[in-house]
Amino acid sequence: MDQRKSMGDRMNKAPAKIIGWNDQEQKFHLTRSSSNEKTGPIPVSTSPQSTCPDSCPLKGAGCYVIGPIKWHWDKVSRGVRGSAWGCFLDEIRSLPRGQLWRHNQAGDLPGDNEEILPQFLADLVNANQGRKGFTYTHKPVLDSQSGPIEENRKAIASANAQGFTINLSANGLNHADKLASLGIGPVTTLLPYEDKRNTTTPRGRKVVVCPAQTREGTTCSTCGLCQRADRSVIIGFLPHGAQKEKALAIARAN
Ligand code: SF4
Repeated sequence: MDQRKSMGDRMNKAPAKIIGWNDQEQKFHLTRSSSNEKTGPIPVSTSPQSTCPDSCPLKGAGCYVIGPIKWHWDKVSRGVRGSAWGCFLDEIRSLPRGQLWRHNQAGDLPGDNEEILPQFLADLVNANQGRKGFTYTHKPVLDSQSGPIEENRKAIASANAQGFTINLSANGLNHADKLASLGIGPVTTLLPYEDKRNTTTPRGRKVVVCPAQTREGTTCSTCGLCQRADRSVIIGFLPHGAQKEKALAIARAN
């Protein structure tokens, strides 16, 4: 029996339960048209906090998910808002062809903590066929980290090769060089300064500040750079908001 099909069938039945994933029901949410100023009016999804890896230095210390999105995230994480995985995939399949959408305004790739569940990611990649999904991950992929490193790399590389773009999130410019050298996906990074200038990494890779932070009126809906899996340029994010000082400290240390 096809393992993915059996998982999807299982999750479409009540009570929807993702076996082996904390052994708890997990919910996922799709907002059809985001009111987020940065993304603009594109579909955005939210995954539960169980997906966030402990290896992310922003977890509980500088995470940009605050305010109304945090309240929404808490509800999704408690399972009081959102859909079971199979229904969530149906929502992705129902998006218009060619639609740009962001997976995870909060949360990480499917799988508990440091793990990516390859079958679940493959389901998402398939549901995205013909659409322009993109996301970011802090799941561990470097040999210096702990966790299922090889498996995570394979799952990410496969998704990027099949049209679902996964950006590797770096914590600073040195980290960005290490992630870029893996060659499994495009890279974004926290920047260790606040002024709006482009820069290069220590190994000479070009870093462009996210246009939504430098150009009035630009949003993901009009930019789409993060969806381009074949780009060579690294996208830099300026620390901002209430957690700015913590994010700056992390970027300077990495
Ligand atoms: S670079 Fe473009 S797509 Fe990426 S976060 Fe910034 S505005 Fe959105």
